[in-house]
Amino acid sequence: PYVVELREVTKVYGGVRALRGVDLLVERGELVAIAGPSGSGKSTLLHLIGTLDRPTTGTVRIAGHDVAGLSDRELSALRARHLGFVFQQFHLAPGVSALDNVADGLLYTGTPLRARRERAAAALERVGLGHRLGHRPNQLSGGEQQRVAVARAVAGDPPLLLADEPTGNLDSAAGAEVLGVLRDLHASGTTIAVITHDPEIAEWCPRQVRVRDGRVVADAGAGIGRRPP
Ligand code: ADP
Ligand code: ADP
Repeated sequence: PYVVELREVTKVYGGVRALRGVDLLVERGELVAIAGPSGSGKSTLLHLIGTLDRPTTGTVRIAGHDVAGLSDRELSALRARHLGFVFQQFHLAPGVSALDNVADGLLYTGTPLRARRERAAAALERVGLGHRLGHRPNQLSGGEQQRVAVARAVAGDPPLLLADEPTGNLDSAAGAEVLGVLRDLHASGTTIAVITHDPEIAEWCPRQVRVRDGRVVADAGAGIGRRPP
C-alpha cells in the first residue's frame, strides 16, 4: 500500500474550506515536501496525514488503514505505531536524559526498559548523538535537541516520519544539521514528509508538493536527490 493515500479530500472548519479536493500519494522511501504559504492548508494536511483529525469528505489512508473506519482509540494506536512526529518546538522532557527522552517514546510498545534503552541508543546513534546519551536537553544545542526529537520519532521505525517546520526554531547552521540527519534517514530508507513554508527547504526535497488555497497546485521532482541548503 501507499504510505499516504489521500483521495478527493476536503476539510471544512465552520464555513471555511481549508482543503478543496486534495489527491496525494506517497510511496515508501520518498522524501517529500508539502510546501505553501501561510493559510494554504499545510497544517490541515498535517492533521489529516497525522490522523489527528478526519476529512470532511474524501478518503485518507495511512499505511493502508482507512482513517474513516477507526475509532479515536484505534486512531491513536495507529498514530503510535505508524507515525513519527517532529515539530518546530522540540517537545523534549526537561531534566530527562537524551536516552530516556527517546526510550520513553517507546512506552506504547510495551517493551521492557532495558530493550527500550537499547533501541533508543541505536536511534541516537543514527542521528549522530551516540556521545550524548546522558545529556539533558538544557545541556544540548538547539540542533542537538531537535536531533533527539528526530531520534525519538524514528526509534520505533514508523512507516512515516512527519516533520512540521523542523528547522523553524533553529539558526541556519543548526537547521542544516537537522536536514543532514533527515537526508541520512532518507538514504537508509525512511519515508519522510516535511511540512514547510520555506522554499529553500522545499527545493532541497527530491519531491515538492505545492499547496495553495486548499489545493495541490504542483507536484514535481520525484526521485531527484539534492544537497541541503
Ligand atoms: P497553513 O498551515 O498553510 O497556514 P492552515 O491549514 O492552518 O494553513 O489553514 C488553511 C485555511 O483554513 C486558512 O484559511 C485557515 O484560516 C483555515 N483554518 C484552519 N484551521 C481552522 C480552524 N480550526 N477553524 C477555522 N478555520 C481554520
Ligand atoms: P509548532 O509547529 O509551532 O512547533 P507544534 O509543533 O506544537 O507547533 O504543533 C503543531 C500541531 O500539531 C498543533 O496543531 C498541535 O495541536 C499538534 N501537536 C503538537 N504536538 C502533538 C503531539 N505530541 N501529538 C499530537 N499532536 C500534536
